[in-house]
Amino acid sequence: MNASSSAGLWDRALQTLKNEIDDESYAAWIEPIQFEHAAEGRLTLTVPSSFHRNWVAWNYQEPITRALHKSAGRDVTVDFVIAPGEEDDRLAADPAVAETLNGPHSSASASQQGRQKIELASYRLNPNYTFDSFVVGESNRFAYAAAQAVADPESRAYNPLFLYGGSGLGKTHLMHAIGQQIRSYGQHLNVLYVSSEAFMNAFIESIRGKDVTQFRNCFRTVDLLLIDDVQFFQGAERSQIEFFHTFNTLFDAGKKIVISSDHPPKELTELEERLRSRFEAGLIVDIQPPDLETRVAILLRKAQAYHLELPPEIAIFIAERVKTNVRKLEGVLKKLAAHCLVTKEAVSMTMAREQLGAFSTGDEPMKISVEKVQLVVCKFFDIHLHDLTGTNRSRKFTGPRQVASYLAREMTDLSFPEIARKFGGRDHTSIIHSHRKVQTELRGDLNRQNLIKYLMKLIKEEPINGVEK
Ligand code: ADP
Ligand code: MG
Repeated sequence: MNASSSAGLWDRALQTLKNEIDDESYAAWIEPIQFEHAAEGRLTLTVPSSFHRNWVAWNYQEPITRALHKSAGRDVTVDFVIAPGEEDDRLAADPAVAETLNGPHSSASASQQGRQKIELASYRLNPNYTFDSFVVGESNRFAYAAAQAVADPESRAYNPLFLYGGSGLGKTHLMHAIGQQIRSYGQHLNVLYVSSEAFMNAFIESIRGKDVTQFRNCFRTVDLLLIDDVQFFQGAERSQIEFFHTFNTLFDAGKKIVISSDHPPKELTELEERLRSRFEAGLIVDIQPPDLETRVAILLRKAQAYHLELPPEIAIFIAERVKTNVRKLEGVLKKLAAHCLVTKEAVSMTMAREQLGAFSTGDEPMKISVEKVQLVVCKFFDIHLHDLTGTNRSRKFTGPRQVASYLAREMTDLSFPEIARKFGGRDHTSIIHSHRKVQTELRGDLNRQNLIKYLMKLIKEEPINGVEK
């Protein structure tokens, strides 16, 4: 078979298939199949995901074989290979994107085809989520090691593996990494990654389409099932039962199962007890928010991926402010990269500050310390800290001292006595007095108001949190 005639072979088979398979299924399952190459009675076709391959193999193997026989005039063996990730796929495989598209409120008016496309997208593995690209620190070391153990095809350890932790801490990343690693050992290993929502959607579709058997065949014949965010199973009883049986079938056949959730099994109180106890039978590992060093390392690693030159001090500046969610950390970086691309400027502290502004509400706001207030006031009035906190009654110092006392009270959550201690241990009534004085002065005095506003802005933006005394 030469290349063009073998492509023609597939094209002719497609004509036959089009007549045999209903339009919707044809569009969803057959059309995405790409001709790869053919040689000596073997035809290699590319499919978008292992789920797609499973589905096609279960449901359309027969008609495909027949159509090819008709087209070639002899038996043709088909090999399916999985397409390397395309840009769109990668986006769609981003669990956040897939969740958004395919979320619980997915529009009922979405066309069947559109929905199927989206559902498929959530089964794909993101090629960027590998073990190599995962930064290991104290907070995730154990989860990483457990995931690696599961990804060893020789190992039977930790079944099921249950990963839990807050949003954006790398659970999905590790699951995809396991999937990719297992898949790298051979196309014959069926890997299926699915969010619990996509599982439920597919299950509901199968009930509607009266093809539950096909659904079961598909889910119960994988070598590795990665099921993400099982907390969404809570309250969905039929899906839970279905998943319980899926779980048992796979488990009894010695297949691997990896589960993720935002909470440990015992806290998923709306899950059926028997499902919870299945989860508890394996290894349960948590992922904690990464420490500062790890956050900086993640930023520097991701910056490389974005071809962004990120000076370490700016990485530290960002990491000090976004603490509990790696996805948000990455979000800041993406915004910086986009900004640099447009302005053709190098990353600067000012730019980082601006981009962080948008994130400050999402993450914990940075606590403002009295030291920071003092630092900014000293800089602004060009005086020494010991003069600000000292007892010199020269007007050069009393004015700034009053302003700093006022700002300390307004911007920190410390009490007057606590603030007084940070102002050279003076009596706290003097701080109350200063605060009141400034408050009175501010009334009707626009210049003073602007000065205070300006100082507040400087304090909020000041990267250094002052020196603890
Ligand atoms: P989760 O599923 O726990 O909500 P994800 O796995 O989706 O979180 O992670 C969110 C983003 O943060 C992803 O882009 C992921 O690559 C990244 N990420 C999380 N932890 C790490 C890490 N330790 N090293 C590198 N990237 C990470
Ligand atoms: Mg996730």
